[in-house]
Amino acid sequence: MSTGTINVSVENIFPLIKKFLYSDHEIFLRELISNATDATLKLKHLTNIGEASVEYGNPMIEVKVDKDNKKIHIIDQGIGMTKDEVEKYINQIAFSGAEEFIEKYKDKQGDDAGIIGHFGLGFYSAFMVASKVEIITKSYKDEPAAHWTCDGSPNYTLEETDKTERGTEIILHIAEDETEFLEDSRINELLVKYNKFMPIPIKFGTKTETLPKPEDAKEDDPAPTQEVDNIINNPTPAWTKQPTDLEDKDYSSFYRELYPMQFEEPLFNIHLNVDYPFNLTGILYFPKMTNDMSIQKDKIQLYQNQVFVTDNVEGIVPEFLTMLRGVIDSPDIPLNVSRSYLQADGAVKKISSYITRKVADKLKSLFNDNREDFEKKWDDIKIVIEYGMLTEDKFFEKAQKFALYPTVDGTYYTYEELKEKVKATQTDKDDKLVLLYASNKEEQHSYIQAAKDKGYEVLLLDSPIIAHLIQKLESEKEKVTFARVDGDHIDNLIKKEDTTISKLSEEEQETLKTFLTETIPSEKFTVQLEAMDSSSNPFIITEPEFMRRMKDMQKTGGGGGMFGMGNMPD
Ligand code: ADP
Ligand code: MG
Repeated sequence: MSTGTINVSVENIFPLIKKFLYSDHEIFLRELISNATDATLKLKHLTNIGEASVEYGNPMIEVKVDKDNKKIHIIDQGIGMTKDEVEKYINQIAFSGAEEFIEKYKDKQGDDAGIIGHFGLGFYSAFMVASKVEIITKSYKDEPAAHWTCDGSPNYTLEETDKTERGTEIILHIAEDETEFLEDSRINELLVKYNKFMPIPIKFGTKTETLPKPEDAKEDDPAPTQEVDNIINNPTPAWTKQPTDLEDKDYSSFYRELYPMQFEEPLFNIHLNVDYPFNLTGILYFPKMTNDMSIQKDKIQLYQNQVFVTDNVEGIVPEFLTMLRGVIDSPDIPLNVSRSYLQADGAVKKISSYITRKVADKLKSLFNDNREDFEKKWDDIKIVIEYGMLTEDKFFEKAQKFALYPTVDGTYYTYEELKEKVKATQTDKDDKLVLLYASNKEEQHSYIQAAKDKGYEVLLLDSPIIAHLIQKLESEKEKVTFARVDGDHIDNLIKKEDTTISKLSEEEQETLKTFLTETIPSEKFTVQLEAMDSSSNPFIITEPEFMRRMKDMQKTGGGGGMFGMGNMPD
């Protein structure tokens, strides 16, 4: 047996690691299972290339909770370590990592925990929950097994032991104040959160499986059962497969795996798959969106090599796409940095614009391939598209080809089609195209009717952010202006010869006019008696377009960002 002192200058790493990582201490299990997975995949590789002459078999990783003895065991059948390797990889490398980490964060306070949570924590994260850690490991090489023990002080023991099966067992002696991790339910929760799609099967206990009844069974015989391993993960999730190997039903069953509580089907999906100049796979889903401003975000999960990292993809995908759901898996996203650094990172920028392009291409092809279906889905997806058009110029350009502008009667035009359609009839004195729209069919009913009676097209634009989008469209080089049907712009549009004289007598007109101008604040509204020819409207009251728009824009938070994050264009 040998003893030694781990080369760490700090007296006792255990309280330090605990202090700095407090908010994220649950990640110890993810880290230890990642190591077990790495060890297994390394062995697979070595047997594949003929370097290791052992049977690879069907290895799994087992997690056991021994509540009575306050221990957690993580057992793998991977490559294992010799005594020398423990010396090297655990005492020197793992703990030098710990030391570097502590050096870096020694002077910082707890509010940096968010950053630290993404720090590439390794083996030593075990000390966040354990007062003592043991490693019992047998290499695939023909060498005796080793037993390492450390209580978080810089002193460890390392001795030979008699383990004969290949692989590594990590034993955590759970600390007094971490006993929540001795509950099966808590461990199960962590396994589902972090390890659900890891590539090596992970066993946690057993479960009872019902078998089919034998043919000669009597009717009220109970169905036979058997105990089987409870495997908590799906080692080959859909995003790791080729799109050509997947059918629609595979995508929808994967959606259900990701969101077991979500009963509504997604509208469509986008399979991401690129390996140059960065590595990225994933599947994004468009769920049904409503106009509700409190749309749920944080639904996209970020993985690295099938290990769950976070469901906060802010800074990695553009803000408007955080409304989507699904999975992104990339080893190329640096995570041991702050979010603001992430946004400036070149690789991450490329990833973000790749995702935006893929989403735009997919929408374009859905539009081209089946316009009717795309129109049906428009109401459920428009909020994402319109928000994307507002916030991402590249996306705006592409979306101009498929973004739709429905009329109050349910005809869907693209922007080009719309302009073509109205150019003969709807221009103002400056020769600008005037695009009339309503935001509420019921409330603006009589204005809509009046405009339709004149043969004008009236759009129905009811997204909460439409005022911003209109502003953006008007700021393009073309001569286009939007006017809400109840706005004062409509005067400019209506040419003299179109105007029908009011059906009221002159006297009646005079009385009405006096009454109205006395009742209605003239600085805010305009009253017109003669502009409308529909019999039900003896007069109309309009509000200046710009005033109403200001109000609408204030409602959606002007420059404050739709979801209280990021920024809306000015
Ligand atoms: P990393 O995984 O980033 O290399 P860790 O601190 O997690 O860093 O682990 C340090 C090293 O210890 C690993 O690189 C590996 O060589 C060794 N190791 C840890 N766990 C195991 C295991 N279960 N089986 C074999 N080797 C392991
Ligand atoms: Mg590791």
